[in-house]
Amino acid sequence: MSEASPETAYEGPLPAVTNLNAPHWEALREHRLVAPHCDTCGRAWLPPGPWCPSCWSRAFRWAELSGRGTVTSLVRFHQQYYRSGPFQVPYAVAEVTLEEGPRLYGQLVQAEPEVGLAVEVCYDDVSEDLTLARFRPRGWEDSR
Ligand SMILES: [Zn+2]
Repeated sequence: MSEASPETAYEGPLPAVTNLNAPHWEALREHRLVAPHCDTCGRAWLPPGPWCPSCWSRAFRWAELSGRGTVTSLVRFHQQYYRSGPFQVPYAVAEVTLEEGPRLYGQLVQAEPEVGLAVEVCYDDVSEDLTLARFRPRGWEDSR
């Protein structure tokens, strides 16, 4: 979505990358959205964790998600907590229920915030080392 540049250095919160969630953050840098998928019951989940929240199996593999989902909740920020980066107020952070089931939070861009909005993931390279998942209306690029 955007290229990192020195003039707009990212000053927002940083993820706590661990052995458990590193594949998720590495995939985002490659503009892919992945999640653990249970080998026993097939469920996908986020945030990454050591076992399936549905059947408690510890057997899972990382697999790509469609990135498509629906806004199920949102918060619109009017207070500016960070001086630069993608946090110019007002902005909305949405809870998106992905088609595969997991819920993911991300900034909603290029849209008026609305519960029920069909969205797709887009990627914001906020620095050389960090890419954040954001959401935009589905088919947005095609409708321009
Ligand atoms: Zn399971």
